[in-house]
Amino acid sequence: MPRCRVCGRRAKYYVPWSNAWFCPEHFIRYVERSVFRVYEKYIGGRHRRVLFAVSGGKDSVSLLHILAPKLLSEGVDVSILFIDLGIEGYTSKALKIVEENASMLKIPLIVSRLRDYGYTITDVAELYFKKLLRRPVCSICGMVKRYLMNRIAYEEGYDLVLTGHTLDDAAAFTLVNILSGRIDELVKIKPYNPGNHKLIARGKPLLFTYEAETKWYVEARNLPVLRVKCPYTPVEEGLVSEIKAMLHRLEERHPGIMRMYMRNLIDKLQPAISREIKESRLVYCSVCGMPSSTDPCGFCRIRSRILELKRGVEG
Ligand code: SF4
Ligand code: ZN
Ligand code: ZN
Repeated sequence: MPRCRVCGRRAKYYVPWSNAWFCPEHFIRYVERSVFRVYEKYIGGRHRRVLFAVSGGKDSVSLLHILAPKLLSEGVDVSILFIDLGIEGYTSKALKIVEENASMLKIPLIVSRLRDYGYTITDVAELYFKKLLRRPVCSICGMVKRYLMNRIAYEEGYDLVLTGHTLDDAAAFTLVNILSGRIDELVKIKPYNPGNHKLIARGKPLLFTYEAETKWYVEARNLPVLRVKCPYTPVEEGLVSEIKAMLHRLEERHPGIMRMYMRNLIDKLQPAISREIKESRLVYCSVCGMPSSTDPCGFCRIRSRILELKRGVEG
């Protein structure tokens, strides 16, 4: 029977990249300590009003329970942001889970509704399936989430937004960017992006945390998480998921390789690449006033197109 590396009691979780067995209690501590270390190294104590973007999934729920109590104990003002995308049969379940987590931790919850801007992701999907919109649903949804996260944080006076992006997705995504030469995208994936006026600082403290760790963390702590998938989750395997599967196979033979790759990318490659590329110029959108690389911004452009198409379909 395997024994916990720390206390010698019966172990439940084997962490191959640390070659260690842990009981649930010490596994929880191990994950928390490793996330604290990332937070302290890359983000630090410079932010006083922190917004956790929580979707209800295991990653963002883990991040919230790992970091929020620590930040609260340091006197940081902490809130949760839930973006209501209006996805039928899904959003209401996700909101319930986020409300449950917010009340467990007694943290205020802000709900931002895409419907207040005249449409929902269900509308986007209908237009896409009718071939009236060419851009895939998840691409629009991702852009909408990034925009609303920043806008709400700015309007409500937060100085940092934290998201639950984990190592597995980030490793696969950055490798795709290397393969396709999207160097400007490659340098954007980092544990900390400092803010700039209306662009609020963003942090990804789980960037070195494996998805398996958040899965076991919510299980070990018995936390409420969303168990259903969004109905628009792509069925086809894209390049990112194929690379992710390849990385998982590689990880089985070389435990820790994904984390090593991410550390080398963040600490060595990105600083060298960043010196070579020009910062993209930011303008302020003439419609909404938020910073963007284009005018109008991507959010306002797609919004006006969707509203126009909706009027056409309804009229
Ligand atoms: Fe949005 Fe796609 Fe995720 Fe659904 S699966 S929440 S549409 S990004
Ligand atoms: Zn133990
Ligand atoms: Zn705009």
